[in-house]
Amino acid sequence: MSDMTINQLLIQIEERKEELVELAKSLIRFKTPSPPARNTAEAQEFVATYLSDLGFSIDKWDVYEGDPNVVGILSGTKPKEYNSLLINGHIDVASIEEGEQWDYDPFSPVVKDNILYGRGAADMKGGLAGSLFAIKLLKEAGIHLPGNLTFQSVIGEEVGEAGTLECCKKGYDADFAVVVDTSNCQIQGQGGVITGWITIQSPQTFHDANRRSMIHAGGGLFGASAIEKMTKVIQGLKDLEQHWAVTKSYPGFPAGMTTINPAVIEGGRHAAFVADRCALWITVHFYPNEDHDEVAKEVEDHILNVAKADPWLRVNPPTFRWGGTSMIEDRGEIFPSLAIDEKHPGLQSLANVHENIFNDKATIGMSPTVTDGGWLGEAGIPTVIYGPGKLEHAHAVNEQLSMDELVQFTKVMTQFIHKWCNTRKV
Ligand SMILES: [Zn+2]
Repeated sequence: MSDMTINQLLIQIEERKEELVELAKSLIRFKTPSPPARNTAEAQEFVATYLSDLGFSIDKWDVYEGDPNVVGILSGTKPKEYNSLLINGHIDVASIEEGEQWDYDPFSPVVKDNILYGRGAADMKGGLAGSLFAIKLLKEAGIHLPGNLTFQSVIGEEVGEAGTLECCKKGYDADFAVVVDTSNCQIQGQGGVITGWITIQSPQTFHDANRRSMIHAGGGLFGASAIEKMTKVIQGLKDLEQHWAVTKSYPGFPAGMTTINPAVIEGGRHAAFVADRCALWITVHFYPNEDHDEVAKEVEDHILNVAKADPWLRVNPPTFRWGGTSMIEDRGEIFPSLAIDEKHPGLQSLANVHENIFNDKATIGMSPTVTDGGWLGEAGIPTVIYGPGKLEHAHAVNEQLSMDELVQFTKVMTQFIHKWCNTRKV
């Protein structure tokens, strides 16, 4: 296909903008907030039908009941010789909290002054709509891509349920992947996140009346309040966090991104007992050159050393439970980090197309948040995050997306899909 025809397609995107907006609105109208989750079946059926109508073969399966993943594959004409592309996005959106003051119903999208309002506009039904529309234009123009094209619409991203990980487990891969999540059309990698529970458990349970013998000279009772001992753990975490801030760094991030947040604490029975159990839920951020298992081990080693300096904790050391598969089901999650290779031909090609469409150099950097991109990276797929919408609007009241940005993004995807799937494998 000539550049002439691709340019005609780019003009078509302007002309058919209403159709693009309608597609984004249709996706937003499906109420897919997570939590509560288990509500994406209809939206995913819509995506599956859309892809299937364009000639994709569909794999659709329940990750949880009521939350199916959709993977569509459009086989290329010469898949062995030409690059394959994977486009990934999540269909779930952030929850709406009671009392939020929206100007419009979050699930009845409207466009006002060239801005699309609705839950998921920025994170990330806009990105899904733009990518789907790009594929539709290419197909309607009768273009047969030589390389394979895979489209993943996944569930669970907002609560760490990692529909994307389930796709990776099934073996779906590609020569290059774009996660079309909120990045303001910047090309990004990301740091990672792992959550963990630190638990202090006393082997005995004491009545409140024993406290005197437990803490005063001559009391003779070897026991402790798990809550009080947890304060030492919290101080230890702060020391480690500060040590990391001083000693760790990674290009593209401000110093000190490696935070350890004591997010939730639970402990004690009631006021007639000395607390025999205390559990702390922490959120640990790490850089792209770090692995979640290594970082978890760093925390454990440090806290076990803190415990050694206390006579009771030395005998009753804290225990750890890291990660998890869902903030809803098992109160834990992992988002692996994603390093990006600026010399990778896929990234360079995307950056060139971006520059062509925006008349401005692509910004390449690091997202301050986390996406499913880390799972694809961990599966060995060269991956970047690149999608429309601003992070300040994601999860926010009056979530919104600039129509101009959506149009520009759709143009980039149209040209990039065509270019990459027409580039020979190296
Ligand atoms: Zn997102």
